Amino acid sequence: MSFEIPITKIVKNLSPSATLAMSAKAKEIKSSGKTVYDLSVGEPDFVTPPHICNAAIEAMKTGHTKYTAASGIPELKKAIVEKYKTDYGLEYNTNQIVISNGAKHSIRNAIFTTIEIGNEVLIPTPYWVSYIELIRLAGGSPVIIQTEESNNFKMTAAQIEKKITLHSKMLILCNPSNPTGMLYNKNELEAIADVALRKNLIILADEIYDKLIYGNNKFVSFPTLNNALRERTILINGVSKTYAMTGWRIGWTFSPENIAKKMGELQSQETSNPCSISQYAALEALTAPQDCVAEMLNAFSERRNYVAKRINEIDGLSCPEMGGAFYAFFNIQKHLGKKFGGVQIDTSEQFCLELLKQKQVATVMGSAFGCEGYVRASFAANIDVLKTAFDRIADFIENR
Ligand code: PMP
Ligand code: GLU
Repeated sequence: MSFEIPITKIVKNLSPSATLAMSAKAKEIKSSGKTVYDLSVGEPDFVTPPHICNAAIEAMKTGHTKYTAASGIPELKKAIVEKYKTDYGLEYNTNQIVISNGAKHSIRNAIFTTIEIGNEVLIPTPYWVSYIELIRLAGGSPVIIQTEESNNFKMTAAQIEKKITLHSKMLILCNPSNPTGMLYNKNELEAIADVALRKNLIILADEIYDKLIYGNNKFVSFPTLNNALRERTILINGVSKTYAMTGWRIGWTFSPENIAKKMGELQSQETSNPCSISQYAALEALTAPQDCVAEMLNAFSERRNYVAKRINEIDGLSCPEMGGAFYAFFNIQKHLGKKFGGVQIDTSEQFCLELLKQKQVATVMGSAFGCEGYVRASFAANIDVLKTAFDRIADFIENR
């Protein structure tokens, strides 16, 4: 080969999404004809409810197949505003919303509009895989806040304060958490809000799992705590998880108006509008009766109880209570440094790869979330898959 197109340093150094990579590995094995028990990617196994699909078909039939305003259709912005007013008493204007190609894209817009070289962004571990890479792509520096399993992986106000420097610009708050399912209560959020206000931090509040809350846990949306927080919060949400619409790619931000304007302009140059048909589907999702959300939540809740019970029954495994989302993050430290099926396993990555190879169960290594010694299992899979997967995990660990 005489010529190789050079790749920029920043893209060369980029790590791909580990969750999507594990899911791709599982799919590859499946395509070779083998059964895989896939607990890797965080994606509801349900199909998108029929009334939402019908709204998309109707949108196509009625000619909503053209460019829309880059930051999204006014009807959907209005529906989002109404939903937040009804659900959380939060009053936003439609010009504070930008609708994007999934919440990941919303996060990307938010980070690229506010973070640049020299800025530090505080991220509690374990963190969702994309935050770090997006911050690095923007030229910012991720600063890790190490949380403890004994405190349910919650960051405390004191831990945040310890990491603050003159360069601190933003704090990432993922509530409920991917990958742990941890949920902050009102007091804990108030303590975090107090630091953010005193230290002048922007808060990126990723609340994409706000409708997946279990038992007696109560979700508190961050900007509801205090009006002053709205000036410094970029709130993230979308339809992927709540309505089983991962493939439709619709997410959004609430932010101060000037930030929304700039994010909309950025999007107008980079991607234009998110898919017009998906926007009409999302409009139906938000405005139609919410029975489908309640039905899916019931199923997730049953799975969450089942998974928690199975994990705690397996020798040496433990995981904190999952208050929300659909992930279990379990501790495998007792088993590292041992042989499984003749193979030495020292890291969570080796554990996950061998579990996939030897037992056809796909999970994601804790190291991808900045937390070695743990494994994430998504319980957005049906109960039969979960049952067989945990039988196999038990067999992998207990009969090695
Ligand atoms: N934030 C968190 C915490 C997530 O787990 C995900 C999962 N995909 C996203 C954002 C992005 O969601 P999407 O792009 O599918 O809307
Ligand atoms: N958020 C999901 C997960 O953590 C989807 C994967 C991704 O968007 O990277 O599994």
